[in-house]
Amino acid sequence: MATLIRNLSQIATPHGRTALRGRAMRELVVHEKAAIVVNDGRFAFIGCESDLPAGLTIDDDVDARGATAVPGFVDSHTHIPFAGLRESEFNRRLQGETYEQIAASGGGIASTVRATREASQEQLSANVLARATMMARYGTTTAEAKSGYGLEKEAELRQLRAIRTANATSPVRLVPTCLAAHEFPPETRGDEHARQNYLRAIIDDILPAVAAEKLAVFCDAFVERGVFTRDQGEVVLRAGQLLGMIPRLHADELSDTDGASLAAHLGAASADHLMQISEAGIAALAASGTVANLLPATSFFLMSERYAPARSLIDRGGIVSLSTDCNPGTSMTESMQIVMQLATLQMKMTVEESLTAATLNGAHSLRLADETGSIEVGKRADFVLLDAPSYLHLVYHFGVNLVTAVYRDGTRVT
Ligand SMILES: [Zn+2]
Repeated sequence: MATLIRNLSQIATPHGRTALRGRAMRELVVHEKAAIVVNDGRFAFIGCESDLPAGLTIDDDVDARGATAVPGFVDSHTHIPFAGLRESEFNRRLQGETYEQIAASGGGIASTVRATREASQEQLSANVLARATMMARYGTTTAEAKSGYGLEKEAELRQLRAIRTANATSPVRLVPTCLAAHEFPPETRGDEHARQNYLRAIIDDILPAVAAEKLAVFCDAFVERGVFTRDQGEVVLRAGQLLGMIPRLHADELSDTDGASLAAHLGAASADHLMQISEAGIAALAASGTVANLLPATSFFLMSERYAPARSLIDRGGIVSLSTDCNPGTSMTESMQIVMQLATLQMKMTVEESLTAATLNGAHSLRLADETGSIEVGKRADFVLLDAPSYLHLVYHFGVNLVTAVYRDGTRVT
């Protein structure tokens, strides 16, 4: 089955089968007046339309009518297997209540944990599928999805099984992460002994059960003041590593807890958030293979002035990726387009860096860069058509959905 997409005003893509770091993040390959040929789900030709080889057998001939093609976006940090929404709490926050006040009255993450524990397996799968479908409409073709709202064995397993079930029919390729160490369960509040028991349960019970069912590729932990300490995070991630799960880490979001250095030290796939990363943390990440995964929509949604230091991380040679952090409390969006716009307009990344961060570098952090994340011959044909004459419109023409078609493995899914 061969598909020809012709009459593209532009193809713009990073290039390579691994992440680009530092200045190389700006180096896009751009073809003007271009065409793409997909064969058996993979890119078979990319280049100027005038260079198309003669004698091709094409089953499906698509006129892109001047669209721009970019790689399908890779959203490498999301919390989509949840139930219950928090729009009223959001409205209270807009009227001046703090997150701490809302949490003290039973809101915040505890309310999502309640709703998620009560949701059936079917409901959770349907929720994941609905959110993945929304992601695809905005151009995402691969997304990571975390548990972490169960905070007890069965509910964590249900969240991960929901990802597996949804993945069978999802337009977006889903990659699962166990985040049992997202928070201590609400019922352990103020009880240090109960908290220690939960930590033991993660290590002795939850992670082994997840591994036995092969429900997660990655293991994640939220290292933060008042949540998991650096040492507790390390113990959880090492336990996951022994069971074959690759570590990722919520690091230095609300306070500097030396999370970035821990992630680098463990060889984690990514260190995520980093709004409060220290100079030492920046140096450690820049010298490592760990991806700095930045989530500017969270700063924006929390109305914070504080964004992660993307410029320092890139200028010092680090690997930066971008993600939505899609979750009901601090970033209720599935759109990687707005994330790229915030990365550029608020964190001063260039458009080129943002596109690389939202595609190839995210794919690298999910260990999929040899398969997706760029438009190049041999890779899976995951790409997006934009109603735009050039990739610059991804940021220039902001606040609208430029995506007109989404292809995953060469099949049109949106
Ligand atoms: Zn998160």
